Amino acid sequence: DALDPKLTSIDLSGLSITQTTTPKSITPNEELVFGRTFTDHMMSIEWTAQGGWLPPRITPYQNLSLDPATCVFHYGFEAFEGMKAYKDRQGNIRLFRPDKNMQRMNRSAARIALPTFDGKKMIELITQFVKMEERFIPSKRGYSLYIRPTIIGTQRTLGVGPPGSALVYVIASPVGPYYPTGFKAISLEATTYAVRAWPGGVGNSKLGANYAPCIVPQMQAAARGMHQNLWLFTEIDPATGEKEDFITEVGTMNLFVALQNKNGQKELLTAPLDGTILEGVTRDSVLALARERMVPQGWQVNERKCTMRELSEAAAEGRLLEVFGAGTAAVVSPIRNISYRDQMIDCGLSPGKEVGPVTLQMKDWIEGIQYGEEEHPWSITI
Ligand code: PMP
Repeated sequence: DALDPKLTSIDLSGLSITQTTTPKSITPNEELVFGRTFTDHMMSIEWTAQGGWLPPRITPYQNLSLDPATCVFHYGFEAFEGMKAYKDRQGNIRLFRPDKNMQRMNRSAARIALPTFDGKKMIELITQFVKMEERFIPSKRGYSLYIRPTIIGTQRTLGVGPPGSALVYVIASPVGPYYPTGFKAISLEATTYAVRAWPGGVGNSKLGANYAPCIVPQMQAAARGMHQNLWLFTEIDPATGEKEDFITEVGTMNLFVALQNKNGQKELLTAPLDGTILEGVTRDSVLALARERMVPQGWQVNERKCTMRELSEAAAEGRLLEVFGAGTAAVVSPIRNISYRDQMIDCGLSPGKEVGPVTLQMKDWIEGIQYGEEEHPWSITI
């Protein structure tokens, strides 16, 4: 990306810090609900088309005050990130691949004509902010501080055009493990009446506008007793000339399939980055670890398209080994079955089991790195 340094640079020396005078009490670990409680402070930086990024500020967590005509409320000028800070056994605070989140946030912002920024400087600001909120980071394995960097267009206008001003703000919320009492394999409903993303669209950007339309299909899946919906994209399969339902991703996770192909070769696959799926940091991490650690054990690891037909055939022939979702919230999430048109596809978990060996191994590898139990360049001590 060609970033204009005049407009993307952030002056760290201008950082002003105002401490809260009313510190919050810490929510006990068992009472943490995802995204409900927030820390004492927030970090914000304003941007104007004339002046670029203004001096960053850390202030008490507070309401925003915006004119009702502000463009974010009308035309969806909003992009965000989701990342976590972890406390390791020695009490150090660690971030996991924050550079990846900043790159993705810049790509998302650029796609909706919001300003980009120097990702390294933003990580330094997030670091300062997170260190101030240290007492909110639970130290137990599986617990973390969820960090939500957000960028919005703040120009006061109903004119449809590039926002002349913007605001980045970062808030943080202590969170517990996705599966507090151990893995629970989930059921998916493949959605055949709505699409999340399409080639040339914005499904690969982390825009707020991508999320609101996903709730109704999610509610409909829930009404039929399924935990989440699986997004498909239907198009002609160049291999056969037939119309096929291709697997893309789950609610807020990328999808991985472990299967044995007809020759007995074991393969771990996920959808390719063709613009219709979000480029998950967890996805990238699963792929890298699988290439490093599973390929030597005889696995193939592929980013390739997979149809529901292939999945259901593999299941019917006993070749479907495991299916799991991958994302920051849960790391990995085992999937028991997928309802698809009039079939129920069994994803290979033995009855009574909640997780398969590949999914479990991946969780252990990634969490081991996140919590500093395995030293790895992805985990940055701050
Ligand atoms: N897909 C979607 C649609 C998501 O919202 C997320 C969560 N950011 C993911 C995949 C997983 O991405 P990550 O591994 O970076 O959390």
